Amino acid sequence: FPQERIRNFSIIAHVDHGKSTLADRLLEATGAVSEREMREQFLDKLDLERERGITIKAQAVRLYYRAKDGELYQLNLIDTPGHVDFSYEVSRALSACEGALLVVDASQGVEAQTLANVYLALENDLEIIPVLNKIDLPQADPERVRREIEEILGLEASEAILASAKLGIGTEEILEAIVKKIPPPRGERQAPLRALIFDSWYDPYLGVVVLIRVVEGKIHVGQRIRLLSTGKTYEVTKVGVFTPHPTSVDVLYAGEVGFFAAGIKEVRETRIGDTVTEAEARVEPLPGFREIKPMVFAGIFPVISDDYEDLREAIEKLWLNDPAFSYEPETSAALGFGFRCGFQGLLHMEIVQERLEREFGLNLITTAPSVRYRIELTGGREIEIENPAEWPDPGKILRVKEPYIRAEIYTPKEYIGPILTLCEEKRGIQKEIRYLTPERVLIVYELPFAEVVLDFFDRLKSVSRGYASLDYQFLDYRPGDLVKMDILINKQPVDALSVIVHREKAYYRGRELVSRLKEVIPRQLFEVVIQAAIGSKIVARERIPPLRKDVLAKCYGGDVTRKKKLLEKQKEGKKRMKALGQVEIPQEAFLAVLKI
Ligand code: GDP
Ligand code: MG
Repeated sequence: FPQERIRNFSIIAHVDHGKSTLADRLLEATGAVSEREMREQFLDKLDLERERGITIKAQAVRLYYRAKDGELYQLNLIDTPGHVDFSYEVSRALSACEGALLVVDASQGVEAQTLANVYLALENDLEIIPVLNKIDLPQADPERVRREIEEILGLEASEAILASAKLGIGTEEILEAIVKKIPPPRGERQAPLRALIFDSWYDPYLGVVVLIRVVEGKIHVGQRIRLLSTGKTYEVTKVGVFTPHPTSVDVLYAGEVGFFAAGIKEVRETRIGDTVTEAEARVEPLPGFREIKPMVFAGIFPVISDDYEDLREAIEKLWLNDPAFSYEPETSAALGFGFRCGFQGLLHMEIVQERLEREFGLNLITTAPSVRYRIELTGGREIEIENPAEWPDPGKILRVKEPYIRAEIYTPKEYIGPILTLCEEKRGIQKEIRYLTPERVLIVYELPFAEVVLDFFDRLKSVSRGYASLDYQFLDYRPGDLVKMDILINKQPVDALSVIVHREKAYYRGRELVSRLKEVIPRQLFEVVIQAAIGSKIVARERIPPLRKDVLAKCYGGDVTRKKKLLEKQKEGKKRMKALGQVEIPQEAFLAVLKI
């Protein structure tokens, strides 16, 4: 296909502004998907994405479009996720593009991730085409939003396209803008192969499937290729593109996006950001992606200890598909063998747990998430800790440092008050309050990341009725007065329930946590005592009285369907329950600290 008629582009937007819906319209309008096949959010392939209505993995689809100039164009569309936990996926996808559609909800306006995504697009030198979406909504105010794009983002928006992805308004105009405004890819077709790996996953039939942007040269079946980071060579067995169905092609040339398989079996061999070249060629690696550091850590354990090996395999496979996730083996006195895993944020953590359970049929327990602390010990050594169970003896601690983030919050001006109160409560340091327009305000705070992990996002949404949005970047480590709080169940400390808390809030947190645990731990046949302790000092205590025997007795001989129902309920209750000694503890208990 002639290179000058290829366009590689992405759609970027704040979450829910309509990226996936617009992608559906583009698929339809170019005939890539027939009406019969069309279902909403076609590109959100994983069941999980469909259910949650969010896009997790970037998807690359090839479309053909006959433009008004009479020529046929090849459009490679890369759909990206919008949530802050997945910004690394956005940045990867953008590096494979020359342009981006910037979708802004005309009834909402510029939000935190609109801005964050625009920065990523500018960093990658992309041509940006603004699209004002949802103009069908009565509260849409495209003129105001057009001004916001110019004033807040500094982009020229006089030609912004008015669209309704839902009704299909503006689709044609968007396709024409892609063809006219986005430059074609460059890159010598005759040069030795250099392709950038921007995604890869495990497929039961093909082995490892690698999504690439060919930067120079070409890749075809039968070619011997080499991965620069490992030096390993393979023979290409399949080359293809998503149309959106996987379709074989003979060759992918410089400027094109597609996938290949090469009988790669080892899960860890293809790294995202790596360069693919010809077996014998001597080439420089392409600039890869910045390393993604996990920010939040939690233990993942199988409910049934025998599943440990299956969990290990599943985690390795998932890791290949999601390099923002990290893992290492962990042993807990309470939960047995499992893994300490690192995530971008809480949503990312939930998604990983659900994917492991659904895609690999496992039943898992995750422990309370923690950030990574740095601890200066007496004697001058500094250690890093991401697991409260490894907290050193307080007598050996000189100083504890915790990660801080810079949080940028965008909000309509009505909610400034409650947002400031929330940030202060979370130990935040105010940096800036700026009116971007007479209506919209940017609030900047420096916050301990541990407080943000807890429930900041949910609280922010609730105090602003869903209108405020948040973006953040990691700043640095700062000293904090932090202590470890242990939870004891019937006098036995449960390592997997320990949390790190700020000393001033320890009593409050301890009381809340213990009463929350009382709610979620089911009554047992014997009394259960729950205590929170800092060192040897008990700061809170609750007791769960034993079940009365007659509660059970009542069910015998009774109505059969009721008994069945009860049994079913019990079975459900069994899911994600872990026996600690004699006490059955449900998953909710490990996450109780998040709900305080
Ligand atoms: P994404 O998170 O950016 O991918 O957003 P989605 O495409 O999933 O859309 C979020 C919600 O907005 C869905 O409920 C869509 O049906 C809805 N939506 C998308 N585009 C439009 C539009 O043009 N008009 C209206 N009224 N709703 C839209
Ligand atoms: Mg989406």
